[in-house]
Amino acid sequence: MPIIIDSHEDIAWNMLTFNRDYTRPVAETRQRDKGSRIPGLNYGDNLLGWPEFQAGRVAVIFATLFAAPRRYEKDPFYTQAYQTVDQAWAAYRGQLDTYKRLFDEHPDKFLQVDDQKSLERVISAWQVSNPAGIQPAIGLVLLLEGAEGIRSPDELEFWWENGLRLLGPAWAGNQYCGGTLEPGPLTTAGRKLLAQMDDLRFTLDISHMDEQSILQAIDRYQGPVIASHANAQALLRGDSNRFLSDTTIRELVSRNGVIGIVPYNHHLVWEWNYPDDKHAVKLDAVVAQIDHICQLAGDAQHVGLGSDFDGGLGMQSTPSEIDTIADLQKLAPLLELKGFTNRDVENIMGGNWLHQLEQSLP
Ligand SMILES: [Zn+2]
Repeated sequence: MPIIIDSHEDIAWNMLTFNRDYTRPVAETRQRDKGSRIPGLNYGDNLLGWPEFQAGRVAVIFATLFAAPRRYEKDPFYTQAYQTVDQAWAAYRGQLDTYKRLFDEHPDKFLQVDDQKSLERVISAWQVSNPAGIQPAIGLVLLLEGAEGIRSPDELEFWWENGLRLLGPAWAGNQYCGGTLEPGPLTTAGRKLLAQMDDLRFTLDISHMDEQSILQAIDRYQGPVIASHANAQALLRGDSNRFLSDTTIRELVSRNGVIGIVPYNHHLVWEWNYPDDKHAVKLDAVVAQIDHICQLAGDAQHVGLGSDFDGGLGMQSTPSEIDTIADLQKLAPLLELKGFTNRDVENIMGGNWLHQLEQSLP
């Protein structure tokens, strides 16, 4: 079974919002959440848990720092929401501490990956033959989703020193650029942010940016550019700036970027909305998204998986064949059926992200 590198999970957000413990099995968390408001707020039951990460061979996760503007998350249950940039900063800061605590308390399970050495340490433990069945630790690469809490580009140095390696300027629109539901260009502050990110060698994540700001950003950014979690617009009937146009996909490919496909039913079939029947959408729709990127790229080296599982989408919002994250492995035989070689499948499941990290981490 190939290893999986999942380029988007809101681990700290979940730990702080729903008190999730990712050292526990999925079934235990489902039992605990039963009868509470959590499955409703999460659009379904949780998908992530320690034995399931192991069964799915999830070796590395891009783990986010994420908080939403309060105007989108009015329910007081959502603790990771903000009204001011200072509150956004405080939320990100709290999530950074949450990851540090996770690394301190469970060094056998979760390791911070922020350079080549730590990456190599995690990956080599997954690649050796393991007859004793030792459970390798999962590497977390920190990714900031929405830069509203970066109060000034000078603050980026603090985040870089603390291991943040990827940065997505937008979620909704903000002081830096247009975003989901709030289109617009890159601002003057956005250009300064990108210049500082370039100096420090951050990877730019264009997910959630509006296309106008994406194209402006790609044009000026010298460093690595990716989309941690975004699907192709061409296969979707709905018109949302959350999806990537073929123009943007071609730009990413020309910059040697990788795109993480999201197995979220509403982002595979636009007409599907929670709580519609999960079984109406099949993993074939994920294969079609992957294949679309490969067709545009002319190879299978620019696409991966960015599940966003438990990030506002639970089990009932994922394709029929998915019960937990371990089921992402069911994509491998489907990709082979579609005509991808063994090597292509390994690259799509994790190899492309691994290569991206090998190129971009210090
Ligand atoms: Zn997102």
